[in-house]
Amino acid sequence: MPTITDVVCPLCGCLCDNISVEVEDNAVKKVSGACAVGRAKLLGHESRIRSPMIKEGGEFRECSYEEAIRRAAEILAAARRPLLYGWSSTVCEAHKVGILLAEVLGGVIDNTASVCHGPTVQAVQGVGLPTCTLGEVKNRADLIIYWGANPVEAHGNHMRRYSYISKGWFRPGGKKDRKLVVVDVRETRTAKMADLFIKVEPNKDYLVLAALRAIVNGFADVIPDEVGGVPKEKLVELAEMMKKAQFGIIFFGMGLTQSRYKHNNIEQAISLVRDLYAFTKFAIMPMRGHYNVTGFNQVCTWQTGFPFAVDFARGYAWYNPGETAANDVLSRKECDAALIVASDPAAHFPAESVKYLAKIPLVVIDPYPNLTTEIADVVIPSAISGIEAEGTAYRMDKVPLRLKKLVDSEFMTDEEILERILDEVLKIKGLR
Ligand code: SF4
Repeated sequence: MPTITDVVCPLCGCLCDNISVEVEDNAVKKVSGACAVGRAKLLGHESRIRSPMIKEGGEFRECSYEEAIRRAAEILAAARRPLLYGWSSTVCEAHKVGILLAEVLGGVIDNTASVCHGPTVQAVQGVGLPTCTLGEVKNRADLIIYWGANPVEAHGNHMRRYSYISKGWFRPGGKKDRKLVVVDVRETRTAKMADLFIKVEPNKDYLVLAALRAIVNGFADVIPDEVGGVPKEKLVELAEMMKKAQFGIIFFGMGLTQSRYKHNNIEQAISLVRDLYAFTKFAIMPMRGHYNVTGFNQVCTWQTGFPFAVDFARGYAWYNPGETAANDVLSRKECDAALIVASDPAAHFPAESVKYLAKIPLVVIDPYPNLTTEIADVVIPSAISGIEAEGTAYRMDKVPLRLKKLVDSEFMTDEEILERILDEVLKIKGLR
């Protein structure tokens, strides 16, 4: 069986690029180097949507790509304020076309960051991001802190490839040369491995971060005996570990971005890292979930000046999360049609937003069936990026990597489908 090496796994923000696959009869038969969920995706264990479909009389009927694309374009061109949402599980080449389509339509475009690391993106705009690459962490870090993140269960290879367990140039002993600290509201499987586990009361991360900043800056005397459920001694112990580290890194997840005070938590965490620069080398990095959620924020920033939640209704890009994010326009019942690409908001958005999404004309582009395809009016299956189509994706440390095409596919790519929809919309609007 031919072996393809240096394959990039198209599942989570780790974008592991050390995978080998064996291909036979145009199918991936064997995968080496991936974690369990990455292996399952590469082996194609999930069921597929086999044909484009249009809903009529409450039932789907199969149709050609041409018919589905024309119907999708008609829906979007007729809308006064369409929402274009998802984008985190497809490649940057599709993002580029999707953002142009949103501009032509005068719609709102947003990606899944608005319900995961949107607060991170906002905080970075406020206070910057003292960060590094995952390669630097692997080769140099001797103190690894996971805050509100559980990589053992959510990013299967993260510790083995890039952090605590990995063997690096200056850390040849792997975890023997590093310390692991976990801060979380419960003792996760990652926390069970930690040298120091700090259990924070839910929604008290901001207080704990502020207390750590005070201690690091020499004001331990003003800190009470307990902050956010954490005894002062433990906070002092962690502050000392941070100051004495040669190279420390805070990886933070949705346990921090989505706990109370959201982007203010991240601003505190980033400011703590900046404070630590007075003592040692430190960095901070978000644990991005979907494999190319970072890529959409990059492409959207190049093209519009803003990373997500961009509204083109005024004829130019307008950005105001809280007003222009996907759930904002759905919960206010503002959008009158939606295009969902590579995402499943019906499974993750609040019930009222999902009820409204089910009422408006809805187009979904996705390789896989999900709750959102169930409520769609037009479903267009696409080739699976990173398996059936190549393209560019950004790792969680903003390093771009090229996804490979491993097998041939009968399905159109996301980029091709979006280009065809854009072409039809331009014709309907008399712009082509
Ligand atoms: S950690 Fe993420 S990118 Fe790496 S193999 Fe697992 S699912 Fe794929």
